[in-house]
Amino acid sequence: MNDIPLKAELTSEAYQALFALTMDALPHEACGVLTGHRQPGHGLAGHRLAEIGSPAPAQAAADVLRVTGVLPVKNAAARPETQFAFDPHDWVRAVYDMQKNRQSLVGFFHSHPGSPPVPSKADHAGFPFAAVEHGSGTSYWILSPDALGRTLAIRTYWVRGESFLPLMLAQIRV
Ligand SMILES: [Zn+2]
Repeated sequence: MNDIPLKAELTSEAYQALFALTMDALPHEACGVLTGHRQPGHGLAGHRLAEIGSPAPAQAAADVLRVTGVLPVKNAAARPETQFAFDPHDWVRAVYDMQKNRQSLVGFFHSHPGSPPVPSKADHAGFPFAAVEHGSGTSYWILSPDALGRTLAIRTYWVRGESFLPLMLAQIRV
């Protein structure tokens, strides 16, 4: 398994949960954590190529980050229109829920009600989670609703230290 997944994938249920949370939180930022798993990507293609004797493409070993669950956490930021901060008690509750349900944390999400889904200065400066201070990093999802609250733009980044690497977001499975 590579350190950084080749791409990210959302189930349609997870997409719908993120959509609802983002719209319901308006005009505030919604935030929370994502659960799911990593799995090998391009396994079939790589296998088929190997069978006919061609070298497998480099991506054959890269894996996919699949998000299957969404756990909202209360936004306790002083200015929730433009910031997010996990409410400490609600964050503990979310961690407990994940353990109870044997879910693995695979990322963090928040919304940008009035700006595009790119990391803000605050995102770069204040990523508050110890999970990215060691290990290979984590995924960071930014959701931007349009002005009418009808569509949601989603961008996924791989965060390690201070670097935000954009990840390809795979087509949502229906
Ligand atoms: Zn942000």
